Amino acid sequence: MANAPEKYAGGSNRGMEEGLILGDKQRVPAAHCAYCGQLNDAASGVEHNAKPQPGDAMVCLGCSGLNVYAEGGKLRRPTPEEVKRASKDLKLQMVRLAAFKLALERKKL
Ligand SMILES: [Zn+2]
Repeated sequence: MANAPEKYAGGSNRGMEEGLILGDKQRVPAAHCAYCGQLNDAASGVEHNAKPQPGDAMVCLGCSGLNVYAEGGKLRRPTPEEVKRASKDLKLQMVRLAAFKLALERKKL
C-alpha cells in the first residue's frame, strides 16, 4: 500500500517473543499513551527500523492501545478512519495481540 503509515510498538519490549516482527528498539521523544498514560520513550518498527513520523500507528506495550504519533512526537487516539484501517492490518493486529498478552502477564490489565 503506497504511503501507508508505518507501525510501531512503544515502550519496553522486554518479554516480547524473540523474532516476532519487530525492528531494532530506538529512543523516541517521551510521550504518554493516550489510554493508560504509560510514558513511552522507545519504539520498535514493525518489520522496519525507521523512526516514527506523524501519522504512524503505535501500539502501547503497557496496555496494547492503538495510538497515533502526532506532531512533536506526542501520542493521540486514532480517528475512526485510522481505527478502520488498522483493523484490516494483520501485522498490526498481531502486534496488538502480543502487546495485550504481555500486558496481561505483567498484570497491568
Ligand atoms: Zn497504554
